[in-house]
Amino acid sequence: MKKLSLKWKLTLLYTLFTTLLTFIILAVLLYLGSGSILASTQDQLKERVFEGFEMLDVRNGSLIIDSDFSDVESGVYLSAYDESGSLLSGRVPYGFTSSISFQENTVQTASLGGSTWYIFDASSELRDFGTIRIRGICSVSALEEELRLLIRLALILLPLIILLSAILCFSLVRRTLRPVFHITRAAREICEEKDLSRRIGLKGNRDEITILAETFDSMLEQLQEAFERQKQFTSDVSHELRTPLSVILSQCDELLGSSNLTAEEKTAVHTIQDRARNLTRLVSQLLFLSRTDQKRQTLTLESLDFTLIARSVLEELEMFAAEKKISLEEEIQDSITLLGDETLLMRLWMNLIENAIAYTQEGGRIQVGLFQKDAAITGYVKDNGIGISQEDLPKIWERFYRADSSRTDSSHSGLGLSMVRWIVEAHGGTIRAESTKGKGSLFVFTLPKENS
Ligand code: ADP
Repeated sequence: MKKLSLKWKLTLLYTLFTTLLTFIILAVLLYLGSGSILASTQDQLKERVFEGFEMLDVRNGSLIIDSDFSDVESGVYLSAYDESGSLLSGRVPYGFTSSISFQENTVQTASLGGSTWYIFDASSELRDFGTIRIRGICSVSALEEELRLLIRLALILLPLIILLSAILCFSLVRRTLRPVFHITRAAREICEEKDLSRRIGLKGNRDEITILAETFDSMLEQLQEAFERQKQFTSDVSHELRTPLSVILSQCDELLGSSNLTAEEKTAVHTIQDRARNLTRLVSQLLFLSRTDQKRQTLTLESLDFTLIARSVLEELEMFAAEKKISLEEEIQDSITLLGDETLLMRLWMNLIENAIAYTQEGGRIQVGLFQKDAAITGYVKDNGIGISQEDLPKIWERFYRADSSRTDSSHSGLGLSMVRWIVEAHGGTIRAESTKGKGSLFVFTLPKENS
């Protein structure tokens, strides 16, 4: 029952309820019905006995009995007796003995020959003849048979009623729950597409479900506003920080250019310059991501030599690899061209290779590869560095997520891979990471040659 959907649970409950109700109603009707049938049979029996007296006549002291007296009408057998109890005329059912004593004006019940019988006796005084008794007998078993038939009919009808009510309940529940399914589908689509501008927009009677949908819509409205404000805030703050940061950097340059500084002061200015550069990098990453959030980040597509881009980034970073005595090996296929955004694709290589250098120990090895197969271009960066645990691996694409922040300096903010993923997907490609903690990592991306 726990695993059933609400639709099936309600259908089951309603059907159970209707079955129980139908069963109770049928049982009560049968009980009352059988009682009244038996009572009316007794009335009929009495009536037939009293009618029997009207079929008797006395002429010249002898009794004349109508031939209809012996007919079995409405299942009632009539028999007439004189005062001493001798049978004068009429019929008794086959195998019925007359050993049952006369009891006037009461309906007796007797079981004989495997059947149950109602017996009713009455007597009357006939002029010129004397007392005459009439006994009426009718079978209760025949009635019971009729009742049994009725019960059988009810038992056939009951499953039909259950089936019919189940079908009815199901369609009723489905109709009632349709708006709930609509809300669920809309909410799921909003989640999957991460589109807070969508609304459920349920129209119709203002019932509880429509009110729920309206509440949900107004909640979405507030959420969307909050997210927009947050995006705007990030964008505004980043813009505001750019100017003071560039002033700090240019002041540092100026100070370092002057010869009046002591060695100690120079070191301090270098530290300030270093931090300011990291901050500038962070601000530009934040600006980039806030532009992607606000859908303002556009691609400037042009036909590019992707091989050249990869090699120039490698050249630029070779010095940093050499500082850590890391061997930087390239397996780059010549003359791979594609339609893409040059600045963004440079940033893609830069981030992946910078990460590989940052997360590989001294004396390590990094392989950078690029090749084309049909219309798909595949690039990869492989290192034998510190690796990423399986637990952290899915989270590295999240903003500000750093698997092991103690291993890197403040220039690593945890925004690089979010940007990388956006760049690859904006070019219609995909990216994945494989890694084993302590053994190294592999980042592989695939881009289509022609951006659609
Ligand atoms: P960060 O600026 O901190 O490097 P990224 O978004 O580029 O931010 O990376 C997120 C996290 O993924 C890093 O903090 C690091 O823990 C992990 N990571 C990325 N690249 C590698 C790699 N080549 N080897 C090991 N860990 C990596």
